[in-house]
Parts: sequence; structure tokens; C-alpha cells
Amino acid sequence: MKPTRPPLKSLDEALAELLAQALPLPGSVELDTFDADGRVLAQDLRSELQVPPQDNSSMDGYALCCADLDSAGGVLTVTQRIPAGSTGLALERGCAARIFTGAPIPAGADAVVMQEDCEAFCSTGATGATGALDQVRILVRPQPGQWIRRAGEDVRRGAVVLHAGTRLTAAALGLAASIGLDRLVLARAPRVALFSTGDELVMPGAIAPQQMRPGAIYNSNRFFLRALLKRLGCEVSDYGIVPDQRAATEQALRDASRSHDLILTSGGVSVGEEDHIKPAVQALGELNLWQIAIKPGKPFAYGRVGTTHFIGLPGNPVSSYITFLLLVRPFLLKLQGVRALQTQAQTLPAHFDWPRADPRREFLRVRRNAAGGLELFANQSSGVLTSAVWGDGLVDNPPGRRIAQGDAVQFISFAEFLA
Ligand code: AMP
Ligand code: MG
Repeated sequence: MKPTRPPLKSLDEALAELLAQALPLPGSVELDTFDADGRVLAQDLRSELQVPPQDNSSMDGYALCCADLDSAGGVLTVTQRIPAGSTGLALERGCAARIFTGAPIPAGADAVVMQEDCEAFCSTGATGATGALDQVRILVRPQPGQWIRRAGEDVRRGAVVLHAGTRLTAAALGLAASIGLDRLVLARAPRVALFSTGDELVMPGAIAPQQMRPGAIYNSNRFFLRALLKRLGCEVSDYGIVPDQRAATEQALRDASRSHDLILTSGGVSVGEEDHIKPAVQALGELNLWQIAIKPGKPFAYGRVGTTHFIGLPGNPVSSYITFLLLVRPFLLKLQGVRALQTQAQTLPAHFDWPRADPRREFLRVRRNAAGGLELFANQSSGVLTSAVWGDGLVDNPPGRRIAQGDAVQFISFAEFLA
């Protein structure tokens, strides 16, 4: 009789276990706002001023008081010119101010008429460069408040514009700058030691494509893993390729565990004789999680070497990529104190058939089409990295589910993971 193996962990169970281990890293760093893209705030950002600071014009045109016009419009005397960056004087009755986008609204004005709805002219009748345009005929009567951006409509004084635990997007950097912050207090960058395993691996550049020996392949995982780690704000130490030997694997793990928060490996975590990661981690530390019921991505491992977290990703590039997105990404964000870790799925119709149900939860590489449906990349092999480049997301297919044309499926855009 075959020994019965315990069932594989589900993705949800594995993620919950992983996140329970990912306690926010102690300490914080202060960085220039310019350098904070993708990093996580360690403090709330509270505004000491209102944005915009004053009521201001959202058009190039004329600021006026609506009560000075009759129902058809009227003619007003232009007494001042207010470009952005300057402030005007209080507006007298019957007068208008030439005003430009972003310039403060002068006291006494309650609307802006855009220049396309006016005719400026000179009171002496002079035309061209000789005559100052000191009169304006308003052709379209404005509503009070028209084309005025209100003081504080973006940010109120004292408001928290961004909370601790927020990951900074480009727009968030702009918002921080808009309240005057040139330095930000951020969660410490996780220090990650990255290494690839596999005697078949060659670094691009080390050997030219025409000279590659049979059996050798280029190391692709190292490139996307490093890029993904950097985007998540990590400091990466790249240990390169570790040979498929137990002693070398242990040595690399031991070295890396001294000064990193996480050791991230790819490959060598299956059950073959050339897979040394699992026994090496067990010898030096502990392995808490091994293998998950997902496809691709079953050979995933989590453990510790000393106090350093260890995550072993599968060697197959698509498996490595997808397990990073599903598991490592939330883990690294949680280390930095991010609370919103959930990715959003959309329900969309499948424009393909997937007739073979799999007992594991599957993540299929698909692409949205112009008809609002999802197309499947023809080759879903875990070695075919083209699928992850061609696709713009994943179908999250529950265990045991077949898919037929038109079925509603759960789609997670890669943008959810790569933002
Ligand atoms: P392993 O998990 O070590 O058995 O590797 C599974 C498959 O992934 C094998 O076909 C390896 O050649 C391939 N592989 C492992 N590491 C990498 C890597 N860094 N880049 C590209 N392919 C890899
Ligand atoms: Mg290997």
C-alpha cells in the first residue's frame, strides 16, 4: 500500500501562515521624497496648510462679480492683471481682472469667465499694439463660483493625506510634495539575499548564445526576481548562482542569514536528488511550509535560517514568477507595515475552453480582448515565460473546475501585483 501523504496546503492557508510570520521590521529611515517611490510610509502625513492655499482660477480669463452683469452680460473695465504667482487687489464694482490659471481670485470677485467667452477691447478705439485692452465685453453670463477652485478643496489644514502603512505611488509622492514635504519617514527596506540554484544555469553575457553547451540555459529567474524585489522597495544582495551541492547550498544560506531579513532562492526545492535546498534549510534552521496546492507553483517553501526568513521558490520560471506575486509580494509588503495586501479580482467571461479540471487551484495566463473577454495563452507550461509576458493577468481557477467558453471566471490583472 502506498503511504498516504497529508494533503497539500491551500494557497489561502499558506498565505495566512506566511503573513503571520511577517512581523513588521523594526526601525524606520528618512529619505528624500524624490527617492521614496514604491516605499512604505512609517508615519501619517498631516498637512500644515490647505491645498490650494487660496481660491484660484481654473481658467485663463476674467475675474468679476456676477452682480455687475445684466442677464445678457455686459462691459466691464479691466483694472488689473493677475498672473499665477502674484496676488491682485480687491476688485472695484463694475471692474474685472485679467486672470490666469492658478492665480488667486481677488477679493470682490465671485466668478471667472474664460477668455473664449469674452471680447477684450480698448476704450479709445485703438487697435493692435497701441491700444491697451482696458475693457472686456462678457458674452456669456457666468454662474457665481464658475471656474474657481476653492481653497482647501484638495487638502484641508490638519488633514492626514496619507496614512502610515501606505505604499507610495507616483501620485502619492506628488501629494506629499503638495503639502511641503521634501523628506519622508519610511519603513526600513527589507534586506533580501537572492540566489538561484541549478548547475544548468548560465548568466547572460557569460557565454554567447551560439556557444552554449547542450543542457545549459540562461538564468532568467534572477532577472525578474531582482526587478520585482527592487520594485517592492527591497535592498537586494545578489548571491548569483549556487551550485547543486549540499555543502555549497548550506554555505550560501549560512552566509546570507547573517545580515538579511529574507533569503529568497529559486529552484532546487523539489524532491529530486539534485534538490538541496530543503534538506539544507532543515539542517540549519527550520522548514515550516513546503508545497502548496497551486498550479503552477507547487514546490514553494517557507522557513527560517536563524532569525532570517527563508522562502524557496520553484525553479520553473512561470512558477517562480507567480508564487512571487501571490506569496512573496504580500510577505514583503507586510514586513514594511502595509495593511492593504489584498489583490482585487474581476469577474469576466472566458473566451476559451479549459476542459481538464485540475485538483489544484490554477493560475492561467490570459489576456483581455477587445470584446471584453479573456483569451488563454496556448501553452500553459510552467517553463514558458512568454505566457507571462503575453498575458496581462491570471485567471484564478478553483480546484476541480473546468472552464467553457462564456463561463464567468475570476481575473486578476498583473497591474494589481506590479503597481
Ligand atoms: P528545479 O526546481 O531546480 O528542479 O528547476 C525546475 C526547472 O526550472 C528546471 O527546468 C530548471 O532548469 C529551471 N530553472 C531553475 N532555475 C532557473 C532559473 N534561475 N532560470 C531559468 N530556469 C530555471
Ligand atoms: Mg534545479
